[in-house]
Amino acid sequence: MTDYDTVSADVEEEEEIPEDHPRYQDLLTRHRIEEGVEKGITHLQGMHAEGRGSAFDYLLGEETIPTAEEAERAAAAHLLLADRPVLSINGNVAALVPGEMVDLAEAVDADLEVNLFNRTPERMEAIADHLRDHGAEDVKGLEADARIPNLDHQRAKVDEDGIYAADVVLVPLEDGDRAEALDEMGKTEIVVDLNPLSRSPQVADVPIVDNIIRAIPNVTAHARDLADADDDRLRGIVEEFDPDRALEAAEKRIRNGL
Ligand code: ATP
Repeated sequence: MTDYDTVSADVEEEEEIPEDHPRYQDLLTRHRIEEGVEKGITHLQGMHAEGRGSAFDYLLGEETIPTAEEAERAAAAHLLLADRPVLSINGNVAALVPGEMVDLAEAVDADLEVNLFNRTPERMEAIADHLRDHGAEDVKGLEADARIPNLDHQRAKVDEDGIYAADVVLVPLEDGDRAEALDEMGKTEIVVDLNPLSRSPQVADVPIVDNIIRAIPNVTAHARDLADADDDRLRGIVEEFDPDRALEAAEKRIRNGL
Protein backbone atom coordinates (compact mmCIF):
# COMPACT_ATOMS: atom_id res chain seq x y z
CA MET A 1 0.00 0.00 0.00
CA THR A 2 1.30 3.47 -0.86
CA ASP A 3 1.67 5.89 2.00
CA TYR A 4 0.51 8.98 0.11
CA ASP A 5 1.32 11.29 3.00
CA THR A 6 4.99 10.62 2.44
CA VAL A 7 4.82 11.92 -1.16
CA SER A 8 5.76 15.53 -0.84
CA ALA A 9 5.61 18.10 -3.60
CA ASP A 10 9.41 18.40 -3.65
CA VAL A 11 10.26 14.96 -4.99
CA GLU A 12 13.72 14.71 -6.51
CA GLU A 13 12.82 12.55 -9.52
CA GLU A 14 9.60 12.27 -11.48
CA GLU A 15 9.67 8.49 -11.05
CA GLU A 16 9.23 8.92 -7.28
CA ILE A 17 5.64 10.09 -7.80
CA PRO A 18 3.38 7.00 -7.64
CA GLU A 19 1.16 6.88 -10.73
CA ASP A 20 -1.82 5.76 -8.65
CA HIS A 21 -1.54 8.78 -6.35
CA PRO A 22 -4.94 10.56 -6.37
CA ARG A 23 -3.22 13.86 -7.27
CA TYR A 24 -0.62 12.32 -9.59
CA GLN A 25 -1.04 14.77 -12.46
CA ASP A 26 -0.87 17.76 -10.16
CA LEU A 27 2.30 16.51 -8.45
CA LEU A 28 3.87 15.73 -11.82
CA THR A 29 2.98 19.17 -13.18
CA ARG A 30 4.35 20.96 -10.10
CA HIS A 31 7.52 18.89 -10.20
CA ARG A 32 8.15 19.69 -13.88
CA ILE A 33 7.59 23.43 -13.31
CA GLU A 34 10.00 23.44 -10.36
CA GLU A 35 12.59 21.70 -12.50
CA GLY A 36 11.94 24.24 -15.25
CA VAL A 37 12.64 27.11 -12.85
CA GLU A 38 15.82 25.39 -11.62
CA LYS A 39 17.05 24.90 -15.22
CA GLY A 40 16.38 28.54 -16.13
CA ILE A 41 13.64 27.56 -18.58
CA THR A 42 10.61 28.73 -16.63
CA HIS A 43 10.19 32.18 -15.10
CA LEU A 44 9.05 32.42 -11.45
CA GLN A 45 5.83 33.97 -12.78
CA GLY A 46 5.24 30.62 -14.45
CA MET A 47 4.80 29.04 -11.03
CA HIS A 48 1.91 31.38 -10.29
CA ALA A 49 0.35 30.56 -13.63
CA GLU A 50 0.71 26.88 -12.81
CA GLY A 51 -0.97 27.41 -9.43
CA ARG A 52 -3.98 28.98 -11.13
CA GLY A 53 -4.14 26.18 -13.65
CA SER A 54 -3.88 23.57 -10.91
CA ALA A 55 -6.95 24.96 -9.12
CA PHE A 56 -9.03 24.83 -12.30
CA ASP A 57 -7.84 21.32 -13.07
CA TYR A 58 -8.87 20.18 -9.59
CA LEU A 59 -12.37 21.50 -10.25
CA LEU A 60 -12.48 19.82 -13.66
CA GLY A 61 -11.74 16.52 -11.90
CA GLU A 62 -8.26 16.37 -13.50
CA GLU A 63 -9.73 14.74 -16.58
CA THR A 64 -10.33 15.64 -20.21
CA ILE A 65 -13.99 16.59 -20.44
CA PRO A 66 -15.89 15.60 -23.63
CA THR A 67 -15.89 19.13 -25.12
CA ALA A 68 -12.12 19.35 -24.58
CA GLU A 69 -11.73 16.07 -26.45
CA GLU A 70 -13.79 17.58 -29.32
CA ALA A 71 -11.58 20.67 -29.23
CA GLU A 72 -8.46 18.50 -29.38
CA ARG A 73 -9.80 16.75 -32.49
CA ALA A 74 -10.75 20.07 -34.10
CA ALA A 75 -7.26 21.39 -33.28
CA ALA A 76 -5.70 18.40 -35.01
CA ALA A 77 -7.90 18.97 -38.09
CA HIS A 78 -6.95 22.68 -38.23
CA LEU A 79 -3.25 21.89 -37.94
CA LEU A 80 -3.46 19.24 -40.69
CA LEU A 81 -5.31 21.65 -43.01
CA ALA A 82 -2.89 24.52 -42.35
CA ASP A 83 -0.35 25.76 -44.90
CA ARG A 84 2.02 27.13 -42.26
CA PRO A 85 1.21 25.80 -38.79
CA VAL A 86 3.36 26.97 -35.88
CA LEU A 87 3.42 25.71 -32.29
CA SER A 88 4.39 28.40 -29.80
CA ILE A 89 6.50 27.44 -26.79
CA ASN A 90 6.86 29.44 -23.58
CA GLY A 91 8.67 28.57 -20.34
CA ASN A 92 5.80 26.56 -18.85
CA VAL A 93 5.15 24.65 -22.06
CA ALA A 94 8.86 23.81 -22.40
CA ALA A 95 9.00 22.53 -18.82
CA LEU A 96 5.77 20.54 -18.98
CA VAL A 97 5.60 18.98 -22.46
CA PRO A 98 8.85 19.42 -24.43
CA GLY A 99 8.90 15.97 -26.06
CA GLU A 100 5.15 16.01 -26.59
CA MET A 101 5.38 19.32 -28.51
CA VAL A 102 8.15 17.89 -30.67
CA ASP A 103 5.95 14.83 -31.41
CA LEU A 104 2.99 17.03 -32.32
CA ALA A 105 5.14 19.21 -34.59
CA GLU A 106 6.25 16.06 -36.39
CA ALA A 107 2.71 14.65 -36.67
CA VAL A 108 1.29 17.81 -38.31
CA ASP A 109 4.48 19.07 -39.97
CA ALA A 110 4.55 22.30 -37.95
CA ASP A 111 7.35 24.59 -36.84
CA LEU A 112 8.22 25.13 -33.17
CA GLU A 113 8.79 28.73 -32.09
CA VAL A 114 9.95 29.94 -28.69
CA ASN A 115 7.93 32.98 -27.65
CA LEU A 116 8.36 34.37 -24.14
CA PHE A 117 6.50 36.90 -22.05
CA ASN A 118 9.65 37.59 -20.01
CA ARG A 119 12.16 37.39 -22.84
CA THR A 120 15.90 37.17 -22.15
CA PRO A 121 18.54 35.75 -24.54
CA GLU A 122 19.55 33.21 -21.84
CA ARG A 123 16.05 31.82 -21.43
CA MET A 124 15.47 31.76 -25.20
CA GLU A 125 18.66 29.72 -25.66
CA ALA A 126 17.95 27.45 -22.67
CA ILE A 127 14.50 26.61 -24.04
CA ALA A 128 15.76 26.05 -27.57
CA ASP A 129 18.46 23.70 -26.19
CA HIS A 130 15.90 21.89 -24.05
CA LEU A 131 13.68 21.33 -27.11
CA ARG A 132 16.68 20.09 -29.11
CA ASP A 133 17.48 17.67 -26.25
CA HIS A 134 13.94 16.35 -26.78
CA GLY A 135 14.43 15.79 -30.50
CA ALA A 136 13.60 19.15 -32.08
CA GLU A 137 15.66 19.85 -35.19
CA ASP A 138 14.75 23.39 -36.05
CA VAL A 139 13.66 25.84 -33.34
CA LYS A 140 12.39 29.27 -34.34
CA GLY A 141 12.02 32.44 -32.28
CA LEU A 142 15.66 33.39 -31.92
CA GLU A 143 15.74 35.61 -35.02
CA ALA A 144 12.89 37.82 -33.84
CA ASP A 145 12.91 39.72 -37.13
CA ALA A 146 9.21 40.64 -37.17
CA ARG A 147 6.71 42.23 -34.77
CA ILE A 148 3.10 41.46 -33.88
CA PRO A 149 1.22 44.76 -34.34
CA ASN A 150 -0.39 46.45 -31.30
CA LEU A 151 1.83 44.88 -28.64
CA ASP A 152 4.69 46.35 -26.67
CA HIS A 153 8.16 45.78 -28.10
CA GLN A 154 9.39 42.76 -26.09
CA ARG A 155 6.19 40.71 -26.28
CA ALA A 156 5.71 41.51 -29.97
CA LYS A 157 8.92 39.81 -31.13
CA VAL A 158 8.40 36.86 -33.49
CA ASP A 159 10.13 35.24 -36.45
CA GLU A 160 9.09 36.52 -39.84
CA ASP A 161 9.00 33.01 -41.30
CA GLY A 162 7.43 31.58 -38.11
CA ILE A 163 4.50 32.96 -36.12
CA TYR A 164 4.38 36.13 -38.23
CA ALA A 165 3.67 34.20 -41.42
CA ALA A 166 1.68 31.35 -39.84
CA ASP A 167 -1.94 30.73 -40.78
CA VAL A 168 -2.66 28.44 -37.80
CA VAL A 169 -0.96 28.92 -34.43
CA LEU A 170 -1.14 26.76 -31.33
CA VAL A 171 -0.50 29.06 -28.38
CA PRO A 172 -0.76 27.14 -25.12
CA LEU A 173 -0.95 29.03 -21.79
CA GLU A 174 -0.80 32.29 -23.70
CA ASP A 175 -1.02 35.78 -22.26
CA GLY A 176 -4.36 37.45 -23.08
CA ASP A 177 -2.91 40.53 -24.80
CA ARG A 178 -0.83 38.49 -27.20
CA ALA A 179 -3.71 36.10 -27.93
CA GLU A 180 -5.88 39.11 -28.80
CA ALA A 181 -3.16 40.63 -31.00
CA LEU A 182 -2.68 37.34 -32.88
CA ASP A 183 -6.42 37.10 -33.35
CA GLU A 184 -6.45 40.63 -34.80
CA MET A 185 -3.78 39.51 -37.30
CA GLY A 186 -6.38 37.06 -38.60
CA LYS A 187 -4.65 33.90 -37.48
CA THR A 188 -6.55 30.75 -36.65
CA GLU A 189 -5.73 30.36 -32.98
CA ILE A 190 -5.74 27.20 -30.93
CA VAL A 191 -5.33 27.92 -27.20
CA VAL A 192 -4.77 25.45 -24.37
CA ASP A 193 -5.83 27.02 -21.07
CA LEU A 194 -7.51 25.55 -18.00
CA ASN A 195 -9.35 28.79 -17.26
CA PRO A 196 -12.31 29.16 -19.65
CA LEU A 197 -12.80 32.77 -18.44
CA SER A 198 -9.30 33.86 -19.39
CA ARG A 199 -9.09 36.13 -22.45
CA SER A 200 -6.88 33.77 -24.45
CA PRO A 201 -9.40 30.90 -24.75
CA GLN A 202 -12.16 33.48 -25.25
CA VAL A 203 -10.57 34.81 -28.45
CA ALA A 204 -9.47 31.37 -29.70
CA ASP A 205 -11.04 29.64 -32.68
CA VAL A 206 -10.37 26.43 -30.75
CA PRO A 207 -10.19 26.78 -26.96
CA ILE A 208 -8.92 23.60 -25.35
CA VAL A 209 -9.84 23.74 -21.66
CA ASP A 210 -7.65 20.92 -20.45
CA ASN A 211 -4.31 20.42 -18.73
CA ILE A 212 -1.57 20.74 -21.33
CA ILE A 213 -0.03 17.48 -20.15
CA ARG A 214 -3.19 15.68 -21.32
CA ALA A 215 -4.08 18.01 -24.19
CA ILE A 216 -0.97 17.85 -26.36
CA PRO A 217 -0.67 14.02 -26.51
CA ASN A 218 -4.41 13.92 -27.30
CA VAL A 219 -4.08 16.39 -30.19
CA THR A 220 -1.19 14.31 -31.53
CA ALA A 221 -3.21 11.09 -31.25
CA HIS A 222 -6.09 12.72 -33.18
CA ALA A 223 -3.65 14.02 -35.80
CA ARG A 224 -2.22 10.55 -36.31
CA ASP A 225 -5.72 9.10 -36.49
CA LEU A 226 -6.69 11.71 -39.12
CA ALA A 227 -3.43 11.51 -41.08
CA ASP A 228 -5.14 9.94 -44.12
CA ALA A 229 -8.35 11.95 -43.93
CA ASP A 230 -9.15 14.11 -46.96
CA ASP A 231 -9.63 17.87 -46.68
CA ASP A 232 -13.44 17.62 -46.81
CA ARG A 233 -13.47 15.37 -43.79
CA LEU A 234 -11.04 17.64 -41.91
CA ARG A 235 -13.13 20.72 -42.78
CA GLY A 236 -16.22 18.91 -41.52
CA ILE A 237 -14.55 18.35 -38.13
CA VAL A 238 -13.48 22.00 -37.98
CA GLU A 239 -16.98 23.26 -38.84
CA GLU A 240 -18.73 20.98 -36.38
CA PHE A 241 -16.74 22.35 -33.46
CA ASP A 242 -18.44 25.15 -31.49
CA PRO A 243 -16.00 27.19 -29.34
CA ASP A 244 -18.74 28.95 -27.33
CA ARG A 245 -20.35 25.64 -26.43
CA ALA A 246 -16.97 24.24 -25.36
CA LEU A 247 -16.25 27.25 -23.13
CA GLU A 248 -19.74 27.10 -21.59
CA ALA A 249 -19.44 23.37 -20.89
CA ALA A 250 -16.07 23.85 -19.19
CA GLU A 251 -17.34 26.72 -17.06
CA LYS A 252 -20.39 24.70 -16.04
CA ARG A 253 -18.21 21.78 -15.05
CA ILE A 254 -15.94 24.04 -12.99
CA ARG A 255 -18.77 25.93 -11.26
CA ASN A 256 -21.26 23.13 -10.72
CA GLY A 257 -19.33 19.92 -11.23
CA LEU A 258 -21.81 19.15 -14.06
P1 ATP B 1 -5.37 36.38 -19.16
O1 ATP B 1 -5.29 35.38 -20.30
O2 ATP B 1 -6.76 36.92 -19.08
O3 ATP B 1 -4.28 37.40 -19.25
P2 ATP B 1 -4.02 35.13 -16.80
O4 ATP B 1 -3.25 36.35 -16.43
O5 ATP B 1 -4.60 34.31 -15.68
O6 ATP B 1 -5.22 35.49 -17.81
P3 ATP B 1 -1.60 33.96 -17.77
O7 ATP B 1 -0.90 33.96 -16.47
O8 ATP B 1 -1.11 34.86 -18.83
O9 ATP B 1 -3.16 34.14 -17.66
O10 ATP B 1 -1.59 32.47 -18.38
C1 ATP B 1 -1.67 31.38 -17.60
C2 ATP B 1 -2.92 30.60 -17.92
O11 ATP B 1 -2.53 29.26 -18.13
C3 ATP B 1 -3.94 30.62 -16.77
O12 ATP B 1 -5.23 30.87 -17.27
C4 ATP B 1 -3.85 29.18 -16.20
O13 ATP B 1 -5.13 28.73 -15.77
C5 ATP B 1 -3.39 28.38 -17.41
N1 ATP B 1 -2.60 27.19 -17.05
C6 ATP B 1 -1.63 27.07 -16.13
N2 ATP B 1 -1.12 25.82 -16.09
C7 ATP B 1 -1.76 25.13 -17.06
C8 ATP B 1 -1.66 23.79 -17.53
N3 ATP B 1 -0.82 22.90 -16.99
N4 ATP B 1 -2.47 23.42 -18.56
C9 ATP B 1 -3.34 24.30 -19.12
N5 ATP B 1 -3.49 25.58 -18.69
C10 ATP B 1 -2.71 26.00 -17.68
